[in-house]
Amino acid sequence: KIEGYTRKIGGADNLTELSHILDDIMHDTRIIQASALRSHEELASTRKQAHEAEARARKLEHELEQVSEKMHEDQLTGALNRRGMDETLEREFKRAGRAQSSLSVALLDIDNFKQLNDTLGHQGGDEALIHLTRVIKDALRPSDSVARYGGEEFLIILPETGMPEAMETLERLQRELTKKFFLHNNERKLITFSAGVALRAGDEDKEDLIGRADNAMYIAKKTGKNRVVEAK
Ligand code: GH3
Ligand code: MG
Ligand code: MG
Repeated sequence: KIEGYTRKIGGADNLTELSHILDDIMHDTRIIQASALRSHEELASTRKQAHEAEARARKLEHELEQVSEKMHEDQLTGALNRRGMDETLEREFKRAGRAQSSLSVALLDIDNFKQLNDTLGHQGGDEALIHLTRVIKDALRPSDSVARYGGEEFLIILPETGMPEAMETLERLQRELTKKFFLHNNERKLITFSAGVALRAGDEDKEDLIGRADNAMYIAKKTGKNRVVEAK
């Protein structure tokens, strides 16, 4: 169009003609301006929609993550549940295999928990379980995991950890529990546990590994409780 107008202006031989051409140019310019404005508005609105869709996707992703986390967590204590424990063990077994690193687990069972339930009530017992989980989590490395194995039994998974360090870790947990008392109605209650610690041998499966930790824990109970015993 501009080319056409250039030619017309060149060929114009009086002012009236030139004035008509200019009118036409002004008219076309306004049309182009209006269309540019429309495109701009459409672009802005599309961009806004894209932003909103992105935000929705992020929110859904976040919700999905939370649901998945909840599916792997014990509701009372926030420790891993059995499903979370199985998945973590599987993942850590693979990682340890690849890296040729040691992996240990500890099975622990609270001492005389029935008595605690009897004196504090079931709710008090629940609070003791929450307290214990908190103390354990705070005392472990971020790469370690704690799972609620049963009622008042917990499995601790210690990647890249050999037997001496695993025993030290459990003994540290015992000390932490004597420092961080469980407070119930402003009364200090000492929680103790008995534990068995097992170092994974070769490509031992989780049933065998936990079984050995369980036997060692049983020995800890039989030989006086509040003890940590190394599994055979
Ligand atoms: P021991 O020292 O030999 O381990 O004795 P214990 O009294 O701890 O005996 P045991 O391990 O057999 O007792 C487990 C008790 O834990 C029995 C059960 O009522 C209680 N328990 C299990 N799950 C829960 C729970 O979610 N909340 C509460 N408050 N108590 C629970
Ligand atoms: Mg028990
Ligand atoms: Mg017990």
